[in-house]
Amino acid sequence: MLVLVLNAGSSSLKFNLFDMSKEISLAEGMVERIGLAEANLACTVEGDRHKEILPIPTHREALEAILDRLKATVLQGTPIHAVGHRVVHGGPKYGDSVLVTEEVVKDIETFAMYAPLHNPANALGIRTAMAAFPDVPHIAVFDTAFHHDIPDHARMYGIPYELSQKYGIRRYGFHGTSHAFVAARTAILLCRPLRALKIVTCHIGNGTSICAVNYGKSLDTSMGMTPLQGVIMGTRCGTIDPSVVEMLMEYEHLDYNGITDLLNKKSGLLGISGVSSDFREIERAAEQGNDRARLARDLLTYNVRQYIGAYATVLDGLDAITFTAGIGTHSTFVRAKVCSKLSFLGVKIDPEANEHGTGERIISTADSRVAVTVVPTNEELMIARETVR
Ligand code: ADP
Repeated sequence: MLVLVLNAGSSSLKFNLFDMSKEISLAEGMVERIGLAEANLACTVEGDRHKEILPIPTHREALEAILDRLKATVLQGTPIHAVGHRVVHGGPKYGDSVLVTEEVVKDIETFAMYAPLHNPANALGIRTAMAAFPDVPHIAVFDTAFHHDIPDHARMYGIPYELSQKYGIRRYGFHGTSHAFVAARTAILLCRPLRALKIVTCHIGNGTSICAVNYGKSLDTSMGMTPLQGVIMGTRCGTIDPSVVEMLMEYEHLDYNGITDLLNKKSGLLGISGVSSDFREIERAAEQGNDRARLARDLLTYNVRQYIGAYATVLDGLDAITFTAGIGTHSTFVRAKVCSKLSFLGVKIDPEANEHGTGERIISTADSRVAVTVVPTNEELMIARETVR
């Protein structure tokens, strides 16, 4: 069964084509800078990389360019059987993946109230793909779904109850496919059933979220109603005192768009360091003695450690900590620093395994009370699996 996985952003379209009989990716890539005269198409088909610069006015032409490439190479007449769509926000309604109907697309558009930067693009991607593939099933897979059943005391904010109910204001959580994937892989690595494990999964990338995974289910997570809450991120501020928002709006003369832009795109690691949102550049600058880069790095590791401590309590115990996403998978420093002050929990890292290993692995010592693992995430494969299911 061939499954095309699509992830539509406002000016980008990522794709991954899976042969689900073997769970392998046949082709992957993305179109960036949609809407500009010089858009980029980059794809890798069966190991061969291809790059092209071409005018791509809308998502329709982006999908056409991708399909032309796939048809000329890997597809050669073979039909695609289903399309799986990454959707950031499922609102209060969707606790599971769903077969897309017109009602579902309208709901996704409505839930743009919680994810204005993501859901409109996700819905546009679905509409575009449904026009291109009208006869195959389309499945929406939500980032929020894994966290749908976290208990009320973990998801309510301390605002008037009626307003929470009226607008659906509460913690939804994100990166659900990633947390679910790496928790399941951790159980396999540890040769123990997922239903017997209490795991804190740390997805640390451009966006960062931490999740308390209790016997395979999300019990709490650091992101909130939107992906702005929680740990400091590449350009997002993470949790701040809400009064900071009022103060900045007043004194910096910012309107709604101005403050949204500041907190989502100019804050976080970029805002603190003044260097970059890219953690590799921050690590480089920190090593060269840049104090603000060091501060940004320290804030990130401190925040992650705070959540691990909190979630060990939420879970009432801890069997494993899992690191994933760009920074979690690759930064030896971040993992070592986060784990260095968790000795009271019985966490012991093996420096050799932390520094020199690659890919999926256990990096704690044999006598560590809590196992520590590194698991590269694979959200696209999870979406393809959900599509098949
Ligand atoms: P996204 O949330 O966009 O999917 P990723 O999970 O790809 O992001 O993570 C991107 C982040 O990972 C960037 O800050 C990048 O600098 C960081 N990163 C990637 N490779 C490394 C590395 N080898 N060492 C440290 N950080 C890395």
